[in-house]
Amino acid sequence: MSDFIRDCGGCAVLDGMLATELQRNGVNLNDPLWSARCLITCPHLVRKVHLDAIEAGANVTLTASYQATIQRFESRGFTREERSYGAYLADGSEYRGDYGDAVDLKFLKDFHRRRIQAYVEILEENDIRIPAWFSFNTNDGINVPSGDSVLDCVSVADSCDKVLAVGINCAPPRFIHDLILSIRKVTSKSILVYPNSGETYDGHKKEWVESKFKGESSKQDFASYVTKWHEAGASIIGGCCRTTPRTLRAIRKVLNN
Ligand SMILES: [Zn+2]
Repeated sequence: MSDFIRDCGGCAVLDGMLATELQRNGVNLNDPLWSARCLITCPHLVRKVHLDAIEAGANVTLTASYQATIQRFESRGFTREERSYGAYLADGSEYRGDYGDAVDLKFLKDFHRRRIQAYVEILEENDIRIPAWFSFNTNDGINVPSGDSVLDCVSVADSCDKVLAVGINCAPPRFIHDLILSIRKVTSKSILVYPNSGETYDGHKKEWVESKFKGESSKQDFASYVTKWHEAGASIIGGCCRTTPRTLRAIRKVLNN
């Protein structure tokens, strides 16, 4: 991982804007498969959006696997792949950690245990050398949406030798700096951050709405934070939902200076 980051000039740029860009290219993502639907209906656009990100300076791009769950693809006649339980529900509950009364702790543990076991087994049994990372989402800068502390989650990821980086994705930019400083205290692995634009996702309406946080303008260009994040210890930096190739270009420019 350190070689890769060094080859990227000391900090890699990460593209997590796939779905936002697919929408900007005219795709309607109002579908339980969300961006993964495009793998079936318009793979050429998935390819175009990845190429746009690479041209804008991305060293890493994310696949359209967010809601590509076993259950969803099976319902379309396809075979297996998994994502988080909230993402599988496709109602935005992964942002809230609220999966309804019928879902108790045991059920969630079983659901996640199967996924984590699957990931760890794949990594270890096949001795996969592709760098693996775990990233977590937070609505309050302290806990993940289910209520567990971000640092506890990072510690779990830190305990796995096959995991080379840990960090935060799809959280508002205002939490990122303090989180990097806290994460550094519990892991020596590389730290990645790819926040969203700072807007808030309304899972019921299935749309992004203005941040209620004073001083955080929507769609702000958060490139101005990049130097601070890099100095704090992040070595993979990018943008998640509602960011654009312009964001990636701005991040790359800041890092090159
Ligand atoms: Zn996101």
